[in-house]
Amino acid sequence: MSFTIAIDGPAAAGKGTISRAVAERFGFAHLDTGLLYRAVGRRMLLGEEPVAAARTLIAADLAGDDLRGPAVAQAASKVAVIPEVRAALVDFQRAFAARAGGAVLDGRDIGTVICPDAEVKLFVTASAEVRAARRLAELLASGNDTDLATVLADVKARDARDAERATAPMKAAGDALIIDTSEMSIAQAVARAVAAVEARL
Ligand code: C5P
Repeated sequence: MSFTIAIDGPAAAGKGTISRAVAERFGFAHLDTGLLYRAVGRRMLLGEEPVAAARTLIAADLAGDDLRGPAVAQAASKVAVIPEVRAALVDFQRAFAARAGGAVLDGRDIGTVICPDAEVKLFVTASAEVRAARRLAELLASGNDTDLATVLADVKARDARDAERATAPMKAAGDALIIDTSEMSIAQAVARAVAAVEARL
C-alpha cells in the first residue's frame, strides 16, 4: 500500500532534515525533488538546453558534490520556471510517491501539484534571516568561501523566483500543516512532523 508524505517549503527551512528523519522513523523511501531540478540546472550550466536535459536525466546526473552548491541552486530555480522542464519530471516523482511501503517527497510543489492527494502535507518554513544563517553555516562547513549578506541575497532571490513563477509556484497546500522552524530545535521540528504522520497512520 502507498502512503505519501509531501513536505514543501523554501530553501534551508529544515525540510530536508525533517524529511530524512521522518523517512527513517517510518521506514519510508525519501526523494529530495530539488535534486532533479539541480541536475537539470547543472546540465544547463554545462551548456545544454534545459528541456532536453530534463527529458534525458539519468541516475548519474544526481551524483556529485557540486550539485548542492549555490551556483547550481540558482541555476535550478531558473530552469524550474520552465513549464516543459517541470512536466518532464512529473511522472518520475509520481511513480516514486506511489511505491509500496510509503514515500516522503520534499520540494516546493509536492502537496499542491505532484501529490495533491498525499496522506500528510507539511509546509516547513522559517524567516529568511534564520534560513540564511543556517545555509551559511553549511556552506562554510563544506569549504565554500562566502558571507551572510551574499547568502541572504541568494536565499531571497530564490524565494522570489520560486514563489512568483506562473507554473507550480512554491506555496502551502490549503490542507498543509505549517511548521515554522525559526525558533525550533531540529528535535522539536521533527517531533511535530512525526506527530502529524502518526495522526494519519
Ligand atoms: O530544494 P532545493 O533547494 O534543492 O531546490 C533547488 C531549486 O529547485 C529550488 O529553488 C526550486 O526552484 C526548484 N524546485 C522546484 N520544485 C521542487 C523542488 C525544487 O521548483 N519540487
